[in-house]
Amino acid sequence: MCEFCLKHGEGQKWYLQANNYSEDLLNDIRRRKMIENFAADGESTAKTIEKMDKLSTAPKFIQALVRRLVPRKMKKRHYGQVVPIEDVEKIFGFVNSIVRVACYCRHFTVGKEKRYCYGISMGPNGGKFGELMKNVDTSFLTGPDSVGAETLTKEQAIASFREHEKEGLCHTVWTFQTPFIGGICNCDRADCLAMRSTVTHNIPVMFRAEFIAEANPDKCVGCRQCMKLCQFGAISYSASNKKAVIDKMKCYGCGICRAACVKDAIHLEPRANDPVVAKIW
Ligand code: SF4
Ligand code: SF4
Repeated sequence: MCEFCLKHGEGQKWYLQANNYSEDLLNDIRRRKMIENFAADGESTAKTIEKMDKLSTAPKFIQALVRRLVPRKMKKRHYGQVVPIEDVEKIFGFVNSIVRVACYCRHFTVGKEKRYCYGISMGPNGGKFGELMKNVDTSFLTGPDSVGAETLTKEQAIASFREHEKEGLCHTVWTFQTPFIGGICNCDRADCLAMRSTVTHNIPVMFRAEFIAEANPDKCVGCRQCMKLCQFGAISYSASNKKAVIDKMKCYGCGICRAACVKDAIHLEPRANDPVVAKIW
């Protein structure tokens, strides 16, 4: 169990606790302001990306300080966790509305709007979160795929997530003033700021999943399709055995590799069951 499961889930998966999505949490004024202002300061986001990309050239003590302080701050404000599609389905099972919106990260990293982010709420028709989203200034989004929030049924949303899996996009839940959870994103390492920060620059702003992947050598035929989808470089190919090999130290447990495997050779196991990675988040 990750730190949030202990603090915000009473020892269970924190993102499967309905109270972490509650409308009551949205009555907190600071949280409402944070959500309203979330996308407002594009200039500051651009500067953050620039600083993050230059961090490796900074003195070592600065790097160490950033790596210690940023996660601490983000855990209170806006922190994420990788979730496999089975758990996304469970979340969609108890929330009452799902809206698809353009991805904020991709606007800044690649200058394109793509509908990869999903707002979730316990209230009907978007609930209070939907109301707040209407106040968010998204005028910076100018692409053809960025207009408005699109309400989806649970079935439409999960079908959309399955399409994202074919593109190799990793599902992540996000807090807005922890522990309130307001969104699920579909991330890749090149475009998503959280993955760039966590994986590329080693400044964690999200936890790995509560799972790790294992490949069954008896089923694997060594086609290597799974390697193309793994955003974390966790799968290699053994030429001697002609099999895929998953490095559990690198695996984030997203389960996306399974979408590529027609032999059903990869499955997820609870991270907690493996003493080697049980405490690696
Ligand atoms: S996609 Fe499946 S069969 Fe192909 S290499 Fe990966 S685990 Fe093996
Ligand atoms: S090997 Fe691990 S990190 Fe890579 S796609 Fe599979 S589950 Fe995700």
